[in-house]
Amino acid sequence: MATTWVFTEEVAGAPSSTSLEMLTKARSLGGDLAAVYVGTGSPEAFAAVGAHGATRVFHIDPGDALPAAGVTGALAALAAEHEPDLILFGMGFTDRDVAGRLSAALDRPVLANAVDLEVDGDAVTVVSEILGGTQIVKAAFTGPKPWLGIVRPKAFPAEPGDGGDPEVVGVPMGEAGPAVIAARHEEAAEGPQLADANVVVTGGRGIGSAEKWSMVTDLASLLGAAVGATRAVVDAEWTAYSLQVGQTGQTVKPDVYLALGVSGAMQHLVGMKDSGTIIAVNKDEEAPIFEVADLGVVGDVHKVVPALIETLRARG
Ligand SMILES: Cc1cc2nc3c(=O)[nH]c(=O)nc-3n(C[C@H](O)[C@H](O)[C@H](O)COP(=O)(O)OP(=O)(O)OC[C@H]3O[C@@H](n4cnc5c(N)ncnc54)[C@H](O)[C@@H]3O)c2cc1C
Repeated sequence: MATTWVFTEEVAGAPSSTSLEMLTKARSLGGDLAAVYVGTGSPEAFAAVGAHGATRVFHIDPGDALPAAGVTGALAALAAEHEPDLILFGMGFTDRDVAGRLSAALDRPVLANAVDLEVDGDAVTVVSEILGGTQIVKAAFTGPKPWLGIVRPKAFPAEPGDGGDPEVVGVPMGEAGPAVIAARHEEAAEGPQLADANVVVTGGRGIGSAEKWSMVTDLASLLGAAVGATRAVVDAEWTAYSLQVGQTGQTVKPDVYLALGVSGAMQHLVGMKDSGTIIAVNKDEEAPIFEVADLGVVGDVHKVVPALIETLRARG
C-alpha cells in the first residue's frame, strides 16, 4: 500500500484507542502512513501517533465547531492534493460522520465494520462479520482511490513501534456551518473502564430490577472488573447507556466476561463473543448465551451471585 491515512480523533487529550489500533495495523501494510488528527493536539498526542507508525500528522483543530462538516471539507481538499490510497476511520461518531460525508463528497463507497484488513500487493480486502459473527464477509475495493474503510474497535491490538516524532502539518478547517458545541458532559467513571478492562461483569434483564443492580456492581468491584450491561437493562434505566455492550454499544475483549441473566441475543454477542473466557449464569438452560460460554451455570442469579459475593468477601 503506497499511502495510508488513519483518521485520528482526539479523546480526552489523546488519540482515540481505535486510531492507535488502526495505525498499528496500517504500519504493517508498508508505504507512507499519516494520521489525520482532529482535536486540540499536543506534543504528547502527536508523539503517541508517531510511536504507532505515522510519520506525518495532518492536524485539524475544529475548536468549538461541530467537527464533521469542516473536517470533511479539509480532508477532501487534502485528499485531492496528496492522493492517498486508503483512508481508515474508526467507529466513533465523528469518524463515521466524516466517512459518510467524505464518501458523498468524493463519490467513493465506504466498506464498513472491518474486523480485519487483508492486503495483497495493491489489493485491499475488508473482512467483516454478519449475523452475529456467524458468517464472514470479504469485500475488496475496486474503482478509483482513495478507498474508504471503517474499522471496528479491538480489531487489532494497539502496539507502539519504534517510530519517532512525526512531521506535523497544520490544516485549516473547511466551512463548518453554524452549529457549535455549547457544552460537554463527562460521564463520571470509577474503577476499570469497560473498553480496556481484563474482567467484565455484565448484567442482563435477569437481574430483575434497578434495586438489584448493586449485585452486579458489588461483584465487579470485588473482582476489580468493569461493569457492562445489555440494552434491555440500559433501556430500563437501571444503569448508564455508556455501559452497554453490543452492536449499538461497546465492543469488549476482556480475558474474562461474566454474563449474569443475559439471554445472549445476537446484538449482544457481537460486542463480547471474542472475550477470552466467557462465564454465563442463566436460569434457562436453552439460553443462547450458553452457546458461546466456556463455563455455564444454570441457576438463579439471585442465589448464585450473592453466594459468589459472599465467598469473595470471606476470602478478603
Ligand atoms: C438494532 C438493534 C440493536 C441492538 N443492540 C444491542 C446492543 O448493543 N446490546 C445489547 O445487549 N442488546 C442489543 N439489542 C437488543 C437485543 O436484541 C436484546 O433484546 C437484548 O440484548 C436482551 O437483553 P437481556 O439479555 O438483558 O434480556 P432478555 O433477552 O430479556 O434476557 C434475560 C435473560 O435472563 C434470564 N433470567 C431471567 N431471570 C433470571 C434469574 N433470576 N436468574 C438467571 N437468569 C435469569 C432469562 O432466562 C433470559 O435469558 C439490539 C436490538 C436491536 C434490534
